[in-house]
Amino acid sequence: MIVYVDNNATTCVAREVFEAMVPFLTDQYGNPSSPHPFGKSAATAIKTARANLAELLGAETDEIIFTSCGTEGDSTAILSAVETQKNRRKIVTTAVEHAAVLNLCRRLQKHGYEIVYLPVDSKGRLNLTDAENAIDDNTAIVSVMMANNEIGNIYPVAQLAEIAHAKGALFHTDAVQAVGKIPIDVKTAQFDFLSLSGHKLHAPKGVGALYVRRFIPFKSFLCGGHQERGHRAGTENVASIAGLGMAAQLAMENMEKEQTYVKKLRDRMEQGLLATCPDPQVNGDVEHRLPNTSSICFKYIEGEAILLRLYEAGHICASSGSACTSGSLEPSHVLRAMGLDYRSLHGSIRFSFSRYNTEADVDTILEKTPPIIKSLRELSPFGR
Ligand code: PLP
Repeated sequence: MIVYVDNNATTCVAREVFEAMVPFLTDQYGNPSSPHPFGKSAATAIKTARANLAELLGAETDEIIFTSCGTEGDSTAILSAVETQKNRRKIVTTAVEHAAVLNLCRRLQKHGYEIVYLPVDSKGRLNLTDAENAIDDNTAIVSVMMANNEIGNIYPVAQLAEIAHAKGALFHTDAVQAVGKIPIDVKTAQFDFLSLSGHKLHAPKGVGALYVRRFIPFKSFLCGGHQERGHRAGTENVASIAGLGMAAQLAMENMEKEQTYVKKLRDRMEQGLLATCPDPQVNGDVEHRLPNTSSICFKYIEGEAILLRLYEAGHICASSGSACTSGSLEPSHVLRAMGLDYRSLHGSIRFSFSRYNTEADVDTILEKTPPIIKSLRELSPFGR
């Protein structure tokens, strides 16, 4: 039995989501742009999904564009903002964004854009004064994630949107990790763009959505057909969109209850590990973080080694703060931005829960993890 606590990487497809998708993968395979009734039933499924997603976000239905993933939503928002405001040559973002934003910004930097990466403190928190100082009337867009994928920090995006608007800049939030986990109301918060991804909320991989506020200037990312009212070319992934619509409905119906449940599991695990492992430390802002995420640093040992042992000992699937890039272990840019020292950087493990985790999962983690940490520290030249 797998103990899957890597839900910020991806989630399983909910049974209800799968069932909502099946008709569009089997009998109802029409093209939603076709004028005949067979195509119309696909178009109706998209309409329902759009309505669900709009309701989840507090948006209007014509403000939702279906995309292929969170990355596409991020790119579309940022590129649209720079294309539609050619006189503004600056982008303000943070040092802890996902690669979907950071690598696009790096590319734009090579094309002459000025990019400001707002720093974070040792708990991964942003300082609003830094944002106020960085955003000016040359800023095309401010892009700040709603919640961080590694440490779970929730950022003050509504306030940042206000600061951006005061300088005439657009505001985008990457809400890939937040949707379905915390309440969102795009109207109150005054976002211009919000991107999300299906596979983080129990819909399949390869589908996402972008909220685009009505009446803001918008330039489509892909050139082609006039799907999504000309906002996103390409024949719609009907089955996955229907699945995302169902995932949004489930999130609306159950979010509060489920997130209370998930937080209870997360907290029991965290407190248990803090009490039984040598020298542990929680990464991030414990007061303002996603209810499902716990990033714990086990000093002096390698995260990759912990992960391997966790899987061997209990089929526990978690994630390390390090990404293995072309054979070299590169520490997480998020933990680096927080100023973690070298020995802490490599030993961070992220546990991320979902509604499908159980108390028994927590029991397994609490039973298997402490001896692994103790034995790896025995082997470490620094940790004895
Ligand atoms: N943004 C954040 C915060 C993420 O965590 C992820 C995925 O891990 C993405 C963007 C990219 O989403 P996708 O995999 O759907 O492209």
